[in-house]
Amino acid sequence: MLLISGSLLASYPSKAVFTRSTEVQNQCRILANQILNYHYLEDPSSELIDGELTQLSSMCDGRILIIDQDFRAIRDTYDLAEGSFIVSEQVLRCFKGESVNQTTEKGFIEITVPVKESESLEVQGVLLVSVSTESIQSTAGALQGDAGVFLLVYGILATALAVLFSHLLVRPVERIASELHEISSGHTSDDLSVKTYTETRRISEEFNKITTQMRMLDESRQEFVSNVSHELKTPLTSMKVLADSLLMQEEAPVELYKEFMGDIAEEIERENKIITDLLSLVKMDKKAASLNIEQTDINDLLELILKRLRPLASKKNIEMVLESFRPVTAEVDVGRLTLAFTNLVENAVKYNKENGWVHVSLDADHKFFYVKVMDSGMGIPEESLDYIFERFYRVDKSHSSEIDGTGLGLAIAKSAVLVHKGAIKVSSQVGEGTTFSVRIPLNYIA
Ligand code: ADP
Repeated sequence: MLLISGSLLASYPSKAVFTRSTEVQNQCRILANQILNYHYLEDPSSELIDGELTQLSSMCDGRILIIDQDFRAIRDTYDLAEGSFIVSEQVLRCFKGESVNQTTEKGFIEITVPVKESESLEVQGVLLVSVSTESIQSTAGALQGDAGVFLLVYGILATALAVLFSHLLVRPVERIASELHEISSGHTSDDLSVKTYTETRRISEEFNKITTQMRMLDESRQEFVSNVSHELKTPLTSMKVLADSLLMQEEAPVELYKEFMGDIAEEIERENKIITDLLSLVKMDKKAASLNIEQTDINDLLELILKRLRPLASKKNIEMVLESFRPVTAEVDVGRLTLAFTNLVENAVKYNKENGWVHVSLDADHKFFYVKVMDSGMGIPEESLDYIFERFYRVDKSHSSEIDGTGLGLAIAKSAVLVHKGAIKVSSQVGEGTTFSVRIPLNYIA
């Protein structure tokens, strides 16, 4: 606004002067014709011309001089220079046929118009008009004043509106900040709900998702800690009971000592297994950065696992078969994957019946390799299938207590598969058997 009004005001006086002088010039041409028609130069007594002169001089707020061929002023509307000679450069140029416009330093426009019959004929006289530009200056001044007031009012209004709108716009963001403060300082556990703008609604929704995830994480951490404590306490409680019952007997027979010490050793073994499994799990959960990826022959890896578990299987006379459809090499962390497949095959043996079978198969396509561990064991009830990968979950505690286990094996296996960006599935029929299917990319995806 400042620039526009500044440039308009700056150009106003020159434009107004131009318009005024063109106007006066046109009037003068008409007057010059009338002067010729009424032979005013020879006999300056026409009242009509005098009237016209007065009218024109008052209209343009200026002075009009009529100069004849001898450079003598024969008429002056100010009655000051009549009879005197006026020889100026402007007048001389006009006698040569030029109309001249010029602005003087005193704020006047001086206009000369030749008096002549037609373009080609000789100039018989000159009309010299001085027009005051005072009114133009005062109009420019008044306009400047008006523009100043307008700009001031506009400036104040614009600033006030800007402050008001910015305040209104920022208010929801301030609400988000204060609600976040309330949540982070623990004064409220409510969700963030600032729905003023689409953006604040999205921020609220995303934030609420994060807090929900964090709550779930916290809950599962608490559950894990309480499960760990419970599982670690169980063998200790048994050992305490066994030790106390020995201590309470004055003269306990050696056989009883031996039997109870054997039980205590078993409980120590169990405690040891839980701790080893827990450490494996913690190691599995660590960042993928700690993976030790290398090209590995998966056939060899599976063969080795089966070889290690064969003594366990032979105790129940379980037949173990490895069926490999093709040689497979893949980029994997040998340690973690060995632990995962060992847990799966060990379960297939543990939860199997006498004279049963365990069938491990390996296949691959251009992207993944597939390992299936099938058994002829007791199977897993349908309602338990969703939970078996959870830490410490064991199907039917009383039944499982006959079979050694910590409930961590499948959690470790799943964690190891997921860290390889793979997938693990289970299908089972109670009384018939269980199949675990694992799919892992041949090339490690970081
Ligand atoms: P555990 O140390 O008890 O074997 P896992 O996490 O390996 O813990 O397994 C969780 C539970 O899933 C087991 O307690 C068992 O009830 C069930 N389970 C796992 N594998 C099999 C299987 N092959 N056949 C039947 N039940 C299984």
